[in-house]
Amino acid sequence: MDAGYIIFVLPAFVFALWAQGRVRSSYETYSRLYSKAGQPAYIVAASLLREAGLEDVRIERASGQLTDHYDPRSRVLRLSSGVYDSSSVAALGIAAHEVGHAVQHGVGYAPLAIRNGLVPVAQFTSNAAIPLFFIGFITRSGFLMDVGLLFFLGAVIFQGITLPVEFDASKRALNMLETSGFVSGDESVPVGNMLNAAALTYVAATAMALGQFLRLFMLRGRRD
Ligand SMILES: [Zn+2]
Repeated sequence: MDAGYIIFVLPAFVFALWAQGRVRSSYETYSRLYSKAGQPAYIVAASLLREAGLEDVRIERASGQLTDHYDPRSRVLRLSSGVYDSSSVAALGIAAHEVGHAVQHGVGYAPLAIRNGLVPVAQFTSNAAIPLFFIGFITRSGFLMDVGLLFFLGAVIFQGITLPVEFDASKRALNMLETSGFVSGDESVPVGNMLNAAALTYVAATAMALGQFLRLFMLRGRRD
């Protein structure tokens, strides 16, 4: 293990594990806390979509736990089975967050548009970055190491753009739930907690990417 790994990657990794644990425990707690309005998440999502003028966005059931997402290509909002029929505070928060992404897409929210445009490039560069860097490292090719670093920097920026997109979707979610009355009074606090816990996993992913970049940068400096 190199020093950069211990200084930059390991703390970010521990933070990511902690964030993962927190989102799971928040989900467990708040999926047993039922909203007073008592509407299941798919009904709430359909209603919020309608209020936002997005009645053409379809809602489907997705397999797996916490696999909820909005697919901008097919304009489908997929809710995991645990969320779909549930009227829990966790389910409503998650469903409304995904509606938030659909609204971002509908209004052409710039960070989302940039993020979606970057997906194909980011997938390629983030897969190629580490192999390129280490081939360069072994063969002592400064050029390959620099290309690897540049590609990895792209992955860090991509992760960074995810943050405003996620925070904005959660902000929209809470607003929509409150104005529509699906969440009332003191229920806003647990919904907010659930959404914050989820947002923290994106902060952790960004910290991981940044930590890895700094580690590679440090390795590069010592290889010259
Ligand atoms: Zn999201």
